[in-house]
Amino acid sequence: DKTSEAVAPIHFASASSEADRIWNISLQAKIDDALRTGEIYVVYQPQIDIRSGALFGAEALVRWEDPERGSISPSYFIEQCEQAGRMEALTRKVMRDALSTLAASPLAETGFQLSVNVSATLLADYRVAEILEEALAGVSLDPTQITLEITETARIVDYVKAGLVMERLRQTGVKLSVDDFGVGAASLETLHALPFDEVKIDRSFVAKTPDDRKARKIVESVTMLGKSLGMTVIAEGVEGVEGADVVERLKEAGCDIAQGYYFAKPAKFSRLMEFEAPAKRLTDGVPRRRV
Ligand code: C2E
Ligand code: MG
Ligand code: MG
Ligand code: MG
Repeated sequence: DKTSEAVAPIHFASASSEADRIWNISLQAKIDDALRTGEIYVVYQPQIDIRSGALFGAEALVRWEDPERGSISPSYFIEQCEQAGRMEALTRKVMRDALSTLAASPLAETGFQLSVNVSATLLADYRVAEILEEALAGVSLDPTQITLEITETARIVDYVKAGLVMERLRQTGVKLSVDDFGVGAASLETLHALPFDEVKIDRSFVAKTPDDRKARKIVESVTMLGKSLGMTVIAEGVEGVEGADVVERLKEAGCDIAQGYYFAKPAKFSRLMEFEAPAKRLTDGVPRRRV
């Protein structure tokens, strides 16, 4: 039946046989429909400035609520989007929605920092820069308020090309963050070869800090590494009853920002108003451009 076809395993999407080709076409259509109808939408998770305890910003996280299948896990459908050639369409949608939501909020007038996830597979050409530039052109926002979290950096094939694309992204004024640092391949090479402004320590280490000395030392070392490279350091996955303890240890380690269920789960943008607002920007609010 249709429902089970819709949740067929990912390997069906690697277009080799006629059946695969047909599956891909229907998957593309499903994704395009969901992007249009609003079944695919964006939620926001607060990021907290560890030193002040105030809101630093939020990460935009995509959701797919299918009327028949219920909510579909992002990790699953993002892979489907990659396979179906729909990452650009997804990224365009998330970027537009997130930027216009921030632009319509009083938080746009503060130092609030908005993070949007971008798959490293999109760094293979300049179209991702066009997507960003179009989204920025449609709103009145200071581009320095935007951070792009680059996910799946292990999939970068051509570092030279990725570096060029990243430089073009940075020319708009946005910051670039390396997501899930410490898991997957080529993390140190990634830091060395590519122009990142922020390092985001993977939650697999962060969550373990209270009772795992090794995990704690790794978090401390990565923080030191990031700071010595002049980067902002953010820890994701602060959660559970030990959350306060984790935050204290992150503070001692010199980590700048924390994110996790301890503070809040991803939710509607308006829920961010429940947090202490970020400090007002000291600039006159005129968009600045790098280079
Ligand atoms: P990510 O970018 O590392 O995002 C953090 C994930 O960890 C999110 O899962 C978030 O809900 C979850 N999380 C945050 N705090 C905690 C915590 O304290 N405990 C636990 N257990 N989990 C926590 P989510 O929303 O399911 O997203 C999964 C991944 O999907 C993201 O990982 C990112 O790689 C990808 N993703 C999500 N939205 C987008 C998007 O718009 N574009 C792209 N390219 N990828 C996206
Ligand atoms: Mg992320
Ligand atoms: Mg992450
Ligand atoms: Mg992660």
